[in-house]
Amino acid sequence: VKQRIVELLRSRNRFAIFSHVDPDGDALGSALGLSALLEAMGKRTEVFVPGPIPRIYRFLPGAPDIHTQAQARSIEGDAMIVLDATSLSRIGPFEELISREACLVNIDHHSDNTRFGDMHWVEPEACATALLIVELAREGGFEIPRSAAACLYVGILTDTGRFTFSNTGARALETAAKLVDLGADPHELATKVYARASAASTLLLGRVLATLELHEEGRIACLHATNGMMLETGTLPEDADGFSTFARSIEGVKVGIFFREAPDGAIKVSFRSNEGVEIDGVAGQFGGGGHPRASGARVSGPIEEAKENVLRAVAEHLRSTAL
Ligand code: 5GP
Ligand code: MN
Repeated sequence: VKQRIVELLRSRNRFAIFSHVDPDGDALGSALGLSALLEAMGKRTEVFVPGPIPRIYRFLPGAPDIHTQAQARSIEGDAMIVLDATSLSRIGPFEELISREACLVNIDHHSDNTRFGDMHWVEPEACATALLIVELAREGGFEIPRSAAACLYVGILTDTGRFTFSNTGARALETAAKLVDLGADPHELATKVYARASAASTLLLGRVLATLELHEEGRIACLHATNGMMLETGTLPEDADGFSTFARSIEGVKVGIFFREAPDGAIKVSFRSNEGVEIDGVAGQFGGGGHPRASGARVSGPIEEAKENVLRAVAEHLRSTAL
């Protein structure tokens, strides 16, 4: 299928590229990277990602031109390419607007991908969708311009947790090194993504860390952020991105959970697990999904109730895996 996708990229001229709601570095990096790559081949592309685009990713080449809202029109093109999205519903309002005549291509690395589309290439072993884009370019002999290299590098950097998660291996590092050869600057990009926190988000982090609770003899760690905390610190939901890592990074913790109240009162749950525990099944029980060791779901509030229900399910899962 990889070869067929390469052929499609080579032969078609107008591409619409989509990625998922609550976009992260890989959603944006893979979409903008593919766009820049195709533009360099003289193709026309448009990128559609349900907004808002987190502030830390707005420096990415092409980010200002992303369509973040569904205008009342259909989306035309010779091919519709959906990246990093488990199911078509993950592209939010754009799902309704994509042209039914165009070829629908699904490129992803989530094992629970529903395999939608006329062509699908799903590779759970890949650390990031951005890595798959690099491999497509390599397969087709397409040149990766510097702007695309930067975007694709950020996709790999963020989906591997700065090259620390269990999906970090030779393939991730070699691909990243190749992108550095093509002009991606590791220090510059890491600084832009990770070292420009706002004072407000750092204050929010302080408040969130103070909510730490340990359960099941220290095997589950929970953190949470309420709308009140965000109001008081002047922060947006995106300012809490990555806070789940602090719950997982405690000695003895098997599962770290971060609960974030959304403006509409729903609760966004981020699940992170350590060696020996797969947590995507529990996220699935709540209508979500993701990767074995990093998953998410959206559940209804209030937050106390959401915490109780999720904690019960995670505790049961830990007991059943005898850890
Ligand atoms: P995060 O907790 O950082 O939002 O998400 C971790 C992983 O779980 C990501 O790969 C993301 O795509 C996936 N994920 C997060 N929320 C949802 C959700 O509501 N549904 C599904 N299917 N996957 C999710
Ligand atoms: Mn990804």
